This record gives sequence, structure tokens and C-alpha cells, in this order.
Amino acid sequence: MTQQHKNEIRSHELPATSLDPKLQAARDEKIQVAMIGLCGCWGCTLSFLDMDENLLALLEKVTITRSSLTDIKRIPHRCAIGFVEGGVANEENIETLEHFRENCDILISVGACAVWGGVPAMRNVVSLEDCFQEAYIDSATAIPDAKKTIPFHEDIPKITTKVYPLHEVVKIDYFIPGCPPDADAIFKVLDDLVSGHEVNLPTSMNRYD
Ligand code: SF4
Repeated sequence: MTQQHKNEIRSHELPATSLDPKLQAARDEKIQVAMIGLCGCWGCTLSFLDMDENLLALLEKVTITRSSLTDIKRIPHRCAIGFVEGGVANEENIETLEHFRENCDILISVGACAVWGGVPAMRNVVSLEDCFQEAYIDSATAIPDAKKTIPFHEDIPKITTKVYPLHEVVKIDYFIPGCPPDADAIFKVLDDLVSGHEVNLPTSMNRYD
């Protein structure tokens, strides 16, 4: 992990706005769900929002403690369900994923990037050195005559040599494939879990594209 400077504050360390105690108590009684995006495009999070009115039904039973929309990467208290989009492409992704595993009873790998690496894992077929060379030195979009530099700073998370699916880093309990998965598939898995049913995602709802 990069060293934190004295005058820095991370998003998860910012003081939260206090809620009305009754509202807070009502939220605390519900099933706690936390979401995060690692190396992905946030398309799976949009698919989550595509649940439309099903989302309202779900929110009767769950509180979303952390959502990918705020991108706050630490959970304030233990959660029943963690929903993770994106693959593992740098050291900060590893820390965030391990934190979610430690603080969620059930962890769900959502989308092709999380399940097998997806689009970011296309870089796995070349060396990291060649990848940087292509992205920053030989790039067709580089500004002519500008000094070509591979970015480096102690605050930039170190990139892993490969992009890994989540289950190669921590234990994952459920997988929802697809790029992105259908909103109905996400709803089915979450609804089964919050209803205390065995998760039963029909093959017809799975996507492998
Ligand atoms: Fe985006 Fe597809 Fe990866 Fe989801 S699986 S984060 S939609 S690229």
C-alpha cells in the first residue's frame, strides 16, 4: 500500500453526515449490502440500476451501505452481502477486495471482468513492459513532440503483472457472468439471498458474452 501523507485524507475517512436516528435505526434493521467496482467499466453497476422497480422492492429489505456510485472503498461495519464488479489489476484492488472479503458474509463476483478478468485481462497476453510501451510511448494518440513518459508516482497504485479474476485472490461465494449480466439475473441472485432461499440462477438468465 502506498504511504499515506500527513495532510491526506481518503474518501472512506471523511466524516459521514449523521442521519436522523429513526432513519438510521430503520436502515440498521435491514440486510446490509456493500458494492464496489475494481478494474471494470461500471457497466455492471449500471445493470444493477437497470433493475428499475425491482430495485425499490429490494430496498424494502436491504440497505446499500456502500455503493459503487460513491466509490468509497471501505465498509463501516460488517455486511451480509458484498457485490464486486471488475477484475484485479493493481495492488489497491487487492487491498479493497481483501477488505470486502473480511467484512462480508457472502461475496458475489459480478460480470465478466470479476468472473474471469474480462476486457482488462486482454493485457495478459503481452508483458507489462510492452503494455506500457504501447500505451504511453508508441501510442497513436500521443501528442507529437511531447516528452513521452510512463507515469510513476508513489501514490499511483502498483499495477499487477496480470489481471486476475476475483476468485484467484479471495474466496468467492457466487458468480454472475455476463458483460454486463442482465439486471434480472442480478435481481434473482440478490432476491434469493435476502429471502433466505438457495441461490438458483437459471441457465436461461446467464450470459457469457
Ligand atoms: Fe464493464 Fe463488462 Fe466488465 Fe461489467 S463485465 S465491468 S460491463 S466490461
